[in-house]
Amino acid sequence: MSASAVDILARLIAFDTTSRNSNLALIAWVEEFLRARGVASQRVANADGSKANLYAVVGPAVPGGVVLSGHTDVVPVDGQPWSSDPWVLSERGDKLYGRGTADMKSFIALALAHVDEALAAPLKRPMILAFSYDEEVGCLGAPTMIAEIVRDLPRPAAVIVGEPTLMKVVSAHKSVRSFVVEVTGREAHSSLPEQGVSAVMEALKLMNLVVELGREAKLVSHAHFTPATMTIGRVEGGTAANIIARQCSFVWDLRCPEMEQGDAIEARFRAAADALDAEIKARVPEGGVSVTRRSKTPGLAIAPESEAETLARALTGDNETRVVSYAAEAGLFQQAGLPAVICGPGSIEQAHQPDEWIERSQIEEGAAFMRRLVQRLSA
Ligand SMILES: [Zn+2]
Repeated sequence: MSASAVDILARLIAFDTTSRNSNLALIAWVEEFLRARGVASQRVANADGSKANLYAVVGPAVPGGVVLSGHTDVVPVDGQPWSSDPWVLSERGDKLYGRGTADMKSFIALALAHVDEALAAPLKRPMILAFSYDEEVGCLGAPTMIAEIVRDLPRPAAVIVGEPTLMKVVSAHKSVRSFVVEVTGREAHSSLPEQGVSAVMEALKLMNLVVELGREAKLVSHAHFTPATMTIGRVEGGTAANIIARQCSFVWDLRCPEMEQGDAIEARFRAAADALDAEIKARVPEGGVSVTRRSKTPGLAIAPESEAETLARALTGDNETRVVSYAAEAGLFQQAGLPAVICGPGSIEQAHQPDEWIERSQIEEGAAFMRRLVQRLSA
């Protein structure tokens, strides 16, 4: 079984599903894989039809199923030093290399590789496959698919999100939101700064606020999580040393143990941005500040007695409590009333890296997990 999971993984890796690209070629391949086995699947497309989620019920459409959720998109390889083609699965030693091997096409490959076994079992409760788009740019795809699963399918008992955890059970994740901030000033010769407004220098005030809020947040401790973090991931602005910059934009990201803390930090940032906006407009009416929230993913809260926890602990034998700082769609499922945990093959340490890899033993462990799940669902 694990051999065919590796074959499927090779097919999935070959689709360049960087989030900026369409994922439809991969979705069509998965659809055909399932159709060939008599399994119908549903697409949930984005607004312009360039991307889609896909979900499928393997086994009887009855309550009590288990959702296996994963994202089909991957992060870019631009500028990263890869020693082999990131879109070709290559084996060196006991490791499999390629973009998405750890994060998280191996989980999808393992789920697909066990469809035959699930159909033959046969299952008494379904295994529900749920593959989303645009997870890496803020879990943008999953919400519409989750809404449809909740609305149209008999209620599943648990959700396993297959982000890389080395097949350990992760019970909670932080909430994440990100913002684009655009500052507009007025151009002038740099010898006459009072005739313009430097968007770069005004934006610096808000960037300093992010640093300051981050420093404050470090002092707030939490029972399970590390403190909230704030980072500025990208800055763009200005044209030359002797021109007062008209434009400056930056993106920042905020990760909090609790939504409420995130709301408070966001409110403080917005208040400061509004004040700066008014200040700039008073000097140059065409200038100002805009803050656009690009993503907002709820956190996954610890639910020790949930069916997802109980199931994942039974399948892995792992009884430790773990939390992570990265976000996934687990919080979205929980918010929709479906208990969820994160458990998948590979390590987050290799995710997003050049020469991303997964150990073959992780594929084997993942296959054992899927076999036990099939046994449980057919008991
Ligand atoms: Zn991921």
